[in-house]
Amino acid sequence: MSRTYYVFLLFIFLLIANSCKSTEFSGFDYDPEGGEVTTDREITPQKVRSIGSTVDGVWISNEFPGARVNDVIRVDENHYRLVIDPENHPINNSAWYGFKIWSDERKTITLELQYPESRHRYSPQISTDNGESWKNISETEHTINTDSDSGIATLTLSTGPERIWVSAQELHTTRQYSQWEKELMQKPFVQKSVAGYSHQGRPISLLKIAQRSLRPEKGVVIMYGRQHPPEVPGYIAGLRFLEIISADTPLAKEFRDRFDVWAFPLMNPDGADNGHWRHNAGGVDLNRDWQALNQPETRAVTDALKPLLNRPNRTVYYGIDFHSTSSNIFYPIEKDEDTFPLHFTYSWHEALTEALPNVEVRNLPYDTTSPIAKNWTFHTFGSDAVTFEVSDDMTGEELETYATTAAKIFMEKMIEAYDNNVAPAAQLD
Ligand SMILES: [Zn+2]
Repeated sequence: MSRTYYVFLLFIFLLIANSCKSTEFSGFDYDPEGGEVTTDREITPQKVRSIGSTVDGVWISNEFPGARVNDVIRVDENHYRLVIDPENHPINNSAWYGFKIWSDERKTITLELQYPESRHRYSPQISTDNGESWKNISETEHTINTDSDSGIATLTLSTGPERIWVSAQELHTTRQYSQWEKELMQKPFVQKSVAGYSHQGRPISLLKIAQRSLRPEKGVVIMYGRQHPPEVPGYIAGLRFLEIISADTPLAKEFRDRFDVWAFPLMNPDGADNGHWRHNAGGVDLNRDWQALNQPETRAVTDALKPLLNRPNRTVYYGIDFHSTSSNIFYPIEKDEDTFPLHFTYSWHEALTEALPNVEVRNLPYDTTSPIAKNWTFHTFGSDAVTFEVSDDMTGEELETYATTAAKIFMEKMIEAYDNNVAPAAQLD
């Protein structure tokens, strides 16, 4: 056969191999070229400032944690273009933005959100109480129009002297996280420690839910959150899981009697505070660094977890890595792998979809080769694990129902798995 023919066959093979891959991030296919390199890359910090026009009396500011606006250009009277760029390139299209806007007089302002090398993605959330509460723009007097060709979004805002906050998702930076954490630590069985520090020196919190138990052996569930800064719905789902597991309910008490939880709810605090699209302050996608462990955040978390390998009375049962994307997805480990508990994710997913028949939750198994948190958990502990993706577009109420139901069924199924594995004390002899 000719050489050309071999090249042709190879081409066809690659074409088929590629078309079989899923569109999300369990493999490299979702990444821009070079996304798998996790040594430090330079990032370009945005200029932090309040800027505006004295002619129009209009002001725009990115002077708060989580904000992102790289430039402001006056196009016309009361018409501005906001240039939004990521922390570095290449990067996938998680086009985060966040700013405050106000005007000396009441007026209508046109704002174009322009992403020079990307496209508009997130439907704006609006706050008029300094970021305390948020509403989707569709529930407000303001409007948005997105041009599908250019990827530019045009906002029409009614402004006045009061600050209007506009953000790609509800703002949840280290400030809000600390408040939330303090609340949870009111529970006597919740302990906090610092697993390590981020590139810019922010603490990586480890929260342990560890209720006293008379059982000689307990299971451990690991939770990871917010590796990707814009994925706030997934992160909030993670916080709700921890609240529900810590609640004063019979189910939660039964669960805590059998399991400890080790949670890292905010793994990328630099990214969250700097309004990053995806990376940490080392310019790297943390959820591609679970083999090389080049970044301080992934090293801190894995170093904190490794001692579990030497604790005979603590067995890791499961890992959940919370993310969000365009829809609800479970990414389980493929069924040809023998996980412990065996294929837990599949039975959890099935029970959840039965409990919420009107909510679509896809189940997309993936192989265990990619350097992501789920696979590190499986390869290190042999336990089952999932990448738990929550839809970007859920309302607060939908997210509450989804997270609450998922957490409740998770606890029920985990209790079952524990009881099937560990013989009750009375039957030991
Ligand atoms: Zn993600």
